[in-house]
Amino acid sequence: MSLMPVLFIGHGSPMNALAHNAFTESLARLGQELPRPRAILCVSAHWETQGTQVLYAQEPITIHDFYGFPEQLFKMEYPAHGDLQMAHETQELIPNAQLSDKWGLDHGTWSVLVHMYPHADIPVYQLSLDLTLPAEQHYEIGKQLQKLREEGVLILGSGNIVHNLRMLRRRTGGDEVYPWAHKFDDDIKQALLKRDDQGVIRYEELYPEESILAVPTPEHFVPLLYTLGASRPEDKVSFPFEGFEMGSLSMRSVMWS
Ligand code: ZN
Repeated sequence: MSLMPVLFIGHGSPMNALAHNAFTESLARLGQELPRPRAILCVSAHWETQGTQVLYAQEPITIHDFYGFPEQLFKMEYPAHGDLQMAHETQELIPNAQLSDKWGLDHGTWSVLVHMYPHADIPVYQLSLDLTLPAEQHYEIGKQLQKLREEGVLILGSGNIVHNLRMLRRRTGGDEVYPWAHKFDDDIKQALLKRDDQGVIRYEELYPEESILAVPTPEHFVPLLYTLGASRPEDKVSFPFEGFEMGSLSMRSVMWS
């Protein structure tokens, strides 16, 4: 089997699950153009645990982990099967990781997959984030996942490179992108293009002024470190989608293939 690409998707608002826009079209295109995976391992911003956990569920439930959104969004289901064998194998690749059946597919996963694979006919499992770990460790876990690519697993990080909900421009009417958001998104883009992995991992010390606003909490940025770790130096880096939502959410997607 050929080596699977690695993907990071900036998922933005849960409402994208219902939307049809340039971003969701880019997801649909990826679903059609990528080699068909055996399974999808999603590293979602929305599953935080003590210690690293791998979702071990034959029929993972759809989790509606948000509030204040329309009823239609709460009714959405993503009925993909799990992949117990791959979950087990993944757990064995990561020292100290545990299997868990105490989660399902959260919206970081299904709001993306409803567009990429609308028939929910590819098995899906998730990897949690232990946010007590330093950035370098998330990247190292990503490296431990590299082998899965040879087995047809699509490693999909789901977060946002810039994610500041407090500064969303939804009430002011404008959608102008904040200069610090642009700058941080571009700094990370350049580091990715140069394959300067430390330029991504050490984001807090390298871009202190921007990162404090762009990454006020780490959970949406950290999935990028897993996908960067799972990539290989010889992979080609591309950006299937670039842009912003509401001034302070970078919708940049990254692909290593
Ligand atoms: Zn999110």
